[in-house]
Amino acid sequence: MPLVGEKGMEYLSNTYAGDFVSVAAARGRLVMESKDLTKVYKLGLTSRDYISAVRQANFALYEKSVVALVGESGSGKSTIAGLLAGQIPKTSGDIILNGQPVSIKSNRSFRAYKREVQMVFQDPFSSLNAIHKVRHHLKRPIEIHQPKLKRAAVEKEVFSLLSQVRLIPSDQFVDKFPYELSGGQRQRVAIARALAARPKVLLADEPVSMLDVSIRLEVLSLLDDLRDRFSLAVLYITHDIASARYFADETIVIYGGDIVERGPSEDVTQTPVHPYTQLLVSAAPDPDALGSSIREAKTANQVTKPRQTGSALTSTAGCRFTPRCPFADEKCAAEMPPLLTVSQHRQVACWHIDKAIANSIFKQIPVKSSGTGSTENVTLHGTHAPLKNKQDSNYGSPNVSDMTNSSGHGTNSQTVVSERASEDGTIA
Ligand code: ATP
Ligand code: MG
Repeated sequence: MPLVGEKGMEYLSNTYAGDFVSVAAARGRLVMESKDLTKVYKLGLTSRDYISAVRQANFALYEKSVVALVGESGSGKSTIAGLLAGQIPKTSGDIILNGQPVSIKSNRSFRAYKREVQMVFQDPFSSLNAIHKVRHHLKRPIEIHQPKLKRAAVEKEVFSLLSQVRLIPSDQFVDKFPYELSGGQRQRVAIARALAARPKVLLADEPVSMLDVSIRLEVLSLLDDLRDRFSLAVLYITHDIASARYFADETIVIYGGDIVERGPSEDVTQTPVHPYTQLLVSAAPDPDALGSSIREAKTANQVTKPRQTGSALTSTAGCRFTPRCPFADEKCAAEMPPLLTVSQHRQVACWHIDKAIANSIFKQIPVKSSGTGSTENVTLHGTHAPLKNKQDSNYGSPNVSDMTNSSGHGTNSQTVVSERASEDGTIA
């Protein structure tokens, strides 16, 4: 069995010769793609006054699947959500919906787009208009997106949506004002409002981070259920990589506007490769949820350089994690590493994958051999600490649903955690 780390990237790039396939593709039809999506915010008049918030992001969303976008504050998560929602104009790249490049040129085409792509925001308190009752919040998007429905049918749809988001008995909620509801109940109304358009894509930008810890799981479990019932392609944005493990089929890690790692959530959280992903996992708020190795990580702390902000987002060349990375050298600062396909469902962008793996306190990386379809667990140094049963974790009560992704890793879709709000709280 070959040792990863011996020949580093050369070995890894030779290990899997096929194309990358998102593990979420096993769930259903391709709904939305982001191709080289890039956003540069201009801050002033000179060419140096800009923030390059998202650089050439490539990923895809599939029916009945959840893709998590994980990264720290300022990494570009909400910018990606805004781009996909048509609220932020892109600088370059393409968004493809149902096989067609998206082009929003009029209010009418924007409305048609919003019928397909809806958003749920972090802050359930500011996302609902305080002067309107729940009925109004749901009736309005139904009337906009299903204009032919008669009054009685609209009313029936309002009640149906409330019961779909488990606000039952619905007649006790329909005439309430937002201030009469708890945070969790408001977020359920916001979710029902997003569903009123019968969208294909749901962009959830930190949908539970402002909720009480005790109800985060309930709301993520609801989203998990709705994903199946409404055949939704869900983009779940979060700071919290532990929640991504339980909720998402695929986890994409973003740093400074660049995708640095992606793969099956179980693999990314248990055997993080990129030094930034290792840092994220080791800093996860709930060590037990991710296995005891994380406690070791906290003490071993391979990545100790302090966070740098500001100028990193205006540098055009190189890996943006360079200032914090213990393995960085001149090449890292000068040249952006490509996303290297290290196994069928896994990509990592790092010039020093070999060192990152060799020094990782996460002992294994699954390497899928080309053509065989089988996954080898390559032990690097020592033995891998056995994972805790997920049901022991603080993150999950069992039985949300069982998911088995195409890489053969069972993912018990428990859920949890994390938070934002739109200008007017609705994209209906
Ligand atoms: P958070 O987790 O705090 O919500 P995020 O990952 O969602 O962060 P974004 O809000 O997408 O990050 O911001 C990415 C970068 O783009 C940040 O540096 C932010 O300051 C910058 N940015 C976002 N919106 C604008 C804007 N309208 N004009 C200029 N810069 C912006
Ligand atoms: Mg954000």
